Amino acid sequence: MFTMTNYVTVGSLEEAYALLGKNKSNKILGGTLWMRMGSQTIHTGIDLSQLGLDQIVENEEAIEIGAMCSLRMIETHPLMNEYFSGIVAESVKDIVGVQFRNCATIGGSIYSRFGFSDILTALLALDTYVELYHGGILSLEDFIKTSYEKDILVKIIIKKEQIKGTYQTERLSHTDFPVLAVAVTKGQKGYKISVGARPSKAALAYEAMHYLNTRDELGEEMIESAVHKVIEELNFGSNMRASETYRKHLAKVLIKRSLKTLSY
Ligand SMILES: Cc1cc2nc3c(=O)[nH]c(=O)nc-3n(C[C@H](O)[C@H](O)[C@H](O)COP(=O)(O)OP(=O)(O)OC[C@H]3O[C@@H](n4cnc5c(N)ncnc54)[C@H](O)[C@@H]3O)c2cc1C
Repeated sequence: MFTMTNYVTVGSLEEAYALLGKNKSNKILGGTLWMRMGSQTIHTGIDLSQLGLDQIVENEEAIEIGAMCSLRMIETHPLMNEYFSGIVAESVKDIVGVQFRNCATIGGSIYSRFGFSDILTALLALDTYVELYHGGILSLEDFIKTSYEKDILVKIIIKKEQIKGTYQTERLSHTDFPVLAVAVTKGQKGYKISVGARPSKAALAYEAMHYLNTRDELGEEMIESAVHKVIEELNFGSNMRASETYRKHLAKVLIKRSLKTLSY
């Protein structure tokens, strides 16, 4: 459990950012579920809960998810089930349990850029952006690659598009971290294949995507070749949950299954 000396509920993002920069151990508080797993000492915990960042809104171009939205809100919100083939909602539904998902925030989840992240894997297969208070708007893919600079994640922006998609994981037991996570989408710009929990952070399989997107029809042989390309281009590793070999085997099965589903 962490130790916190001061706790401030801020009235604006400007105030939050100024406070964040005042001391190197000042921290933004999400649902604090991940923070509780460690033993860090926080000088000032910055609570964003009064800034109206707990909304999911639709505009002409995108669905915007405020940083303080809980994973449960994402799972149950009509917009998240209506758009994107429901894969964003689907990606969070196996994370621990309902009470946990009522507290864990999307801000804490995406800012942390966990290798095992379900939602990062799903969002990467969509046209997703991150809005940072100081850093502005950048694509989720670029954000994943940046270092952990002190900033405030304000919202997630998912550009609306007509897609078909699937989200699949393998877990050793129901509420455990995923051993592998796969999101595949097919939109106007073609296929996107995102693989997370390899165990490193979610990444797109560009060679396989290019291969699929330059073919007219998706037959059995092409699916096999695309799956092979994913295994070749992305790195898979071992940890306490699974070996590299097992992860590669799972990736073949889950990607093949996803592509078959989307090809009908
Ligand atoms: C026991 C356990 C099991 C889990 N299982 C899974 C799983 O199976 N799949 C999965 O995908 N995830 C899993 N998670 C991760 C979980 O879903 C959340 O992603 C995680 O708890 C972080 O969300 P939080 O709101 O608790 O963040 P916090 O713990 O509050 O914050 C985490 C970090 O993000 C920073 N932060 C928070 N909000 C912001 C913001 N708006 N801007 C900038 N920085 C911010 C904090 O300062 C801190 O450094 C698990 C977590 C736990 C504790």
